[in-house]
Amino acid sequence: MNQQLIEQIVGEILGQLGKSPVQLPDRAVPIAVSARHVHLQPEHVEVLFGAGYQLTQRSELSQPGQFAANETVMIAGPKSSIERVRILGPVRKATQVEVSFTDAMKLGVKPPLRESGNIEGSAPITLIGPKGSVHIEQGLIIAQSHIHMAPSDAARFGVEDGEYITVEADGIRPISFRNVRIRVNERYRLEMHIDTDEANAGFITQGTIGRLVKPNDVKETTAVQMIPETVKVPQSFEFTKKLLSTEDLAAISEDEIVINKGTIVTALAKDTARELGKTITVRK
Ligand SMILES: [Zn+2]
Repeated sequence: MNQQLIEQIVGEILGQLGKSPVQLPDRAVPIAVSARHVHLQPEHVEVLFGAGYQLTQRSELSQPGQFAANETVMIAGPKSSIERVRILGPVRKATQVEVSFTDAMKLGVKPPLRESGNIEGSAPITLIGPKGSVHIEQGLIIAQSHIHMAPSDAARFGVEDGEYITVEADGIRPISFRNVRIRVNERYRLEMHIDTDEANAGFITQGTIGRLVKPNDVKETTAVQMIPETVKVPQSFEFTKKLLSTEDLAAISEDEIVINKGTIVTALAKDTARELGKTITVRK
């Protein structure tokens, strides 16, 4: 094949691809991995970066209006500190620091698993910027996995805001996430947010596609397992004691009990055996 022909074919294929947008499978949810980050309240921006300072945008995030700032801070716990933790903008009502469980162990802190924004009674942490530092008594959390979606997505999936669902990610190390909270808002774009520990556990990278499963959904990948008809093989139990009582009988699950010639079987045991459909045979 000559070069020109190859280029023509490639061009046609690319043209075709351009026409039809990539169709995601039914119930597919793109997964985004959130690394440790900080949300700041306006006063804390000034303490950390100087009076009148405003965060500057480095890149846009998938959720409209949200951005990663150029600015970073150091976060410090009783055991150690982590440098260059990204600040996400815009500023918020209350400073919030989101770390993974691995980060928490390194820092020597015990943040609770929380939904973003719910920081009441969460863990303390210290933030250190180029111009100053801030110690917050609460605001350090491990973020609860969640899915952002628009009302149209919610309708399509048959879920509601605040509902908890399961997401399965069938990669080379398949994993399912339970208690994933649904967050519905007109401004949201369909995306699941997990932290780095969760991502690492399932070898998940940015953009991996998960599958939303409602708790009562029948798993699409596995057919309902039929309980196989058990073939009843007559089983016998070798009884070696001198006396066979009702108690002994109750402890034996086999249908046939083989006893020695001299073994005494109580009258009650004989009755019980008959009632249970068990046979007592004398060993020859
Ligand atoms: Zn999120």
